[in-house]
Amino acid sequence: MTEESFNALKFARDLAGLQADLEDATNEWVPVDQQNPAASGLLTVINELTAGTEPTTAVARAVDAYNTVRRRMREHENATDARRRQEQEELEAEEAITRKVQCPFCGVEAGLKCRGTGASGGLKNRSHRDRFRLARQLNDGATPV
Ligand SMILES: [Zn+2]
Repeated sequence: MTEESFNALKFARDLAGLQADLEDATNEWVPVDQQNPAASGLLTVINELTAGTEPTTAVARAVDAYNTVRRRMREHENATDARRRQEQEELEAEEAITRKVQCPFCGVEAGLKCRGTGASGGLKNRSHRDRFRLARQLNDGATPV
């Protein structure tokens, strides 16, 4: 084998390896929040150029691919934020009712947060279940499951 054909083979193998890695990174099964817009752009430009596409067009398609992944990620992020905000609002509305009564479990008085239910924010600030049930019994006679 000549050095030239050896180098050509090595280049082909390296390129195939790079394409395989980029395909893994841009695979449709990769969760949207873990996708990589730059990998998508690079894979596109390599595929277009090796297919003989004119360079300006190849780059334009790469930018399209990059922008498409970025837009999907932003949409996903916005949807996730909206869902979290809604969950937080629902929890706050629920807690506003629950905290009207003293907690029969930890004994904390009305208006205060239950003791020992976690210091961090979000759903861990939920009151004890007994207090939740008691508040509903007193408020509207309904006992939630
Ligand atoms: Zn409590």
